Amino acid sequence: MVLDKLGSSLREALGKLAKSLLVDEKAIDELVKELQRSLLKADVNVQQVFKLTETIKSRALKEKAPAGMSQKEYIVKIVYDELVNLLGKEGYKIDIKTKPFKIMLVGLFGSGKTTTTGKIAKFFQKRGYKIAVIQTDTWRPAAYTQLKTLGEQLNIPVFGDPKEKNPEKIYKKFEKDLEKFDIVIIDTAGRDALSKELIEEIKKIGKLTKPSEVLLVLSADIGQVAEKQAQAFHEAVGVTGLVITKMDGTAKGGGALAGAGVTKAPVKFVGLGEKIDDLEPFDPTRFVSRILGMGDLETLLEKAREVVTEEKAQEMSEKLIKGDFNLIDLYEQMSSMKKMGPLSKVLELIPGFGKMNIPEGMLETQEGKLEKWKIIMQSMTKKELEDPEKYLDSSRIERIAKGAGTTTAEVRELLKQYKQSKKMMKMFKGDNPEKLMKKFKGKLPGM
Ligand code: GDP
Ligand code: MG
Repeated sequence: MVLDKLGSSLREALGKLAKSLLVDEKAIDELVKELQRSLLKADVNVQQVFKLTETIKSRALKEKAPAGMSQKEYIVKIVYDELVNLLGKEGYKIDIKTKPFKIMLVGLFGSGKTTTTGKIAKFFQKRGYKIAVIQTDTWRPAAYTQLKTLGEQLNIPVFGDPKEKNPEKIYKKFEKDLEKFDIVIIDTAGRDALSKELIEEIKKIGKLTKPSEVLLVLSADIGQVAEKQAQAFHEAVGVTGLVITKMDGTAKGGGALAGAGVTKAPVKFVGLGEKIDDLEPFDPTRFVSRILGMGDLETLLEKAREVVTEEKAQEMSEKLIKGDFNLIDLYEQMSSMKKMGPLSKVLELIPGFGKMNIPEGMLETQEGKLEKWKIIMQSMTKKELEDPEKYLDSSRIERIAKGAGTTTAEVRELLKQYKQSKKMMKMFKGDNPEKLMKKFKGKLPGM
């Protein structure tokens, strides 16, 4: 489906956000631009797009994530909510209250009324209702035969009279027969455009049949025009819901859905192909989940959780500044290295360090060594990690080396590295960072 494209570009935009270290105004601006590009490509109306992205931006900047949720996750949720809003919040809801429950389909020529009559018949048949359909289209010569073929497929009665030219007469002729059914679906004639004549005809059939649901069938390939058409039909005959067909075959599906979404009548079904099963009840929430790929959305949120959060990085940099740094921090630093990027990222958060050019490689550590050190640290007790200088004597070092399956030399190397790092961190304190970096050039240890 063409909307898959919209889905993948929206996912990409959110993916970029998830991967960014900070959710600042710049990251949000970038997200907003990507969203705009994706939605405009899917033919969503420019004004709607800008209104939507403006709301997303101001909410993302103003609102704080609730407890237990990171700001990134929360922004993903805001995007999700606003996309649902764009599509009109409400979706499929048809309560079969009366008997027979009458559903009348209206729309222009070729919008997919007859096909959808068959599809909706099948939809309710599967749900256990006794269904009949009736053809009141006296304009199209083959209208009756077309519906008859569909009815035969479903094994349901098809009422109609290809020789009769007056639609009301057709209905009256079968009115009694129709009473036996739970649901009666009334197919009607269309025109090339919404003409007075068409409105008059629909009004008359409506008055006579008193349907509980009047569903306007719109083809997705009309794109943004869907809004105007839906509005015009609604004013003329009062529609209770919309069906957007041919969502499978057009890049304009986004425009049709979003356009139709702003009308008073909610989109209740979407048509996704020519076959009788290619119909889905429309639910904006589910729809957005699907085009964003709920599974992918989960991974995305997962990713946002994994990447060290802004607060965490801030906390780390504060510790660095205070020189209040122990082996636990070193361990945390190491385990988050890969996820949050090199230490230089953390340094960027320290005022004065952000703009500095840190020589390449200076802050990098060999991966293999890091892994070994991690294992060594895992063999230490909490006390030892918190204050290695105080607790780590030869016998403990030996115990740790054994536990980690390594040599005491290796443990001592880690400790030496730690002491150097700590010394360096302490020197950061209260000094001009620029000058400091010059002092450290070439001397900086592993991390
Ligand atoms: P009507 O004039 O409004 O009754 O429209 P029809 O039901 O006769 O449909 C017109 C054309 O659109 C037919 O060729 C259908 O097969 C096709 N059609 C209807 N719904 C869909 C849909 O959801 N997807 C696709 N690809 N084609 C559809
Ligand atoms: Mg038709």
